[in-house]
Amino acid sequence: MYDKVYLRKVFEKMRTQNIQPVTNPDQIRALIAHEKSVGAYRPIGWSSYAAPLKPNAISNESLVLHCTKCNNNTSGIYEVADVIRRCPACRSLLMYCPACKSCASATEKFSVISCDRCSADFVTNTTVEYLASRDRASREIVLSGIRAIGELHLGNLFGAVQQFVEYEHGDNFCMYFIADWHTLTTLRDPRKVALNSLAIATDYLAAGLNPERSVIYSQSSVPEIAELALYLSMVQPKLQLEHLPTVKDLAKDKHSTMYMGHLHYPLLMAADILGPKATLVPVGYDQAPNVELAMSLADKFNRQFGTTFVTPKMSLNKVVPGLAGGKMGKSNEDSSVLLSDTLDQISEKYLRYGITDKRRSTRSAPGNPSQCVSVYPMYEALLEKRPEEIKIVETECREGSRGCRECKLQLSREIDALLQPFRERRAELSEKQKYVEEVLHYGGLKAREIIQHTLWEVRERLGILSH
Ligand code: SF4
Repeated sequence: MYDKVYLRKVFEKMRTQNIQPVTNPDQIRALIAHEKSVGAYRPIGWSSYAAPLKPNAISNESLVLHCTKCNNNTSGIYEVADVIRRCPACRSLLMYCPACKSCASATEKFSVISCDRCSADFVTNTTVEYLASRDRASREIVLSGIRAIGELHLGNLFGAVQQFVEYEHGDNFCMYFIADWHTLTTLRDPRKVALNSLAIATDYLAAGLNPERSVIYSQSSVPEIAELALYLSMVQPKLQLEHLPTVKDLAKDKHSTMYMGHLHYPLLMAADILGPKATLVPVGYDQAPNVELAMSLADKFNRQFGTTFVTPKMSLNKVVPGLAGGKMGKSNEDSSVLLSDTLDQISEKYLRYGITDKRRSTRSAPGNPSQCVSVYPMYEALLEKRPEEIKIVETECREGSRGCRECKLQLSREIDALLQPFRERRAELSEKQKYVEEVLHYGGLKAREIIQHTLWEVRERLGILSH
């Protein structure tokens, strides 16, 4: 119904002027009266290109307003003094939409209002106030993200995402994102980047994150992060970036090319963290130096330009052991249990790659769990809330009454049982990809709204005035 270029212009104007939809009936009445007086009022059904009506051309019939959703006549609602905000028939929220300039019904999803008539989305003042009050009332503003370089594995689920869910259940305000820009330093296949991003959002939800409580978004939905990274690069010496372990390792590797994106990566990560003024950042230990850099950048900027950023705290994710020892990671699929692996695949991986106490020569020879490289540590990681079961594994291993093969098979069954509820929710959500896309869309709108406020402060501090 509306020209896209026209709507884009309207949205841009609304964004720069911070125009919000009006949901208060008194204000809607005042707006109708005002628009009538200046001849700009157009009742529902008029094209946006129709010539503005002259004030005296508006008859009482022109004021007949209908709920966009159920077509119920809602004109009376604006005429009575009572504060009625909803359509009496379908209970839809009623609002005055500044994009299509009409009194329309609206749908509220994940604290974002969408006009049912022109589909414009609004993070309203009420939403911003709600988000801000949650900020203030929160113990922590938690922020974390995962790169979209591949399928999630057990290490991501038990080491990171399960803790995200626990933070959400506390009095925290949580923001979790998919780091799709960070992915581009590793992955160049656009199809994979897009599919992985959606898959990680699905995994977040399957693991139990609630989009009504947490802001779940893609990093690329918030262009303000890139602008913030640019400003941070102006106060960050290059030499310090070159001394970061990840950058140093890459510089040493003769077979890899270092791109500007690699050097810029920590700055983008600092913008991810400082943009929403996060107070707590759960992170894997390999990313800890980057969080430390974000902390020092916040201090440096605050000292030079006045207090703007919050210096966050860091919390290290739990380390889940890989099959070949060390940390379970995306770089080696044979050393990882993927969340999509079946019981047979998990058992096969453990039987093939799991490393036990190498000094154990026969099934009945006593073993030493502390020398068991990847099987016993996984029992400890998974069953930390069931210490008596870990004790049984330890005792049977030391006595020689437990063979390594059966020990690996039992572990595979434990992992499979723990993954089962996740898999069921994952299967349900994979049938509802539209819902997952909506979560990311509305999460992105809210994240933008939050991060924009920091960006405006930074611009002001730096004297960047957009004219
Ligand atoms: S019995 Fe189990 S804990 Fe002991 S060495 Fe073998 S796999 Fe490791």
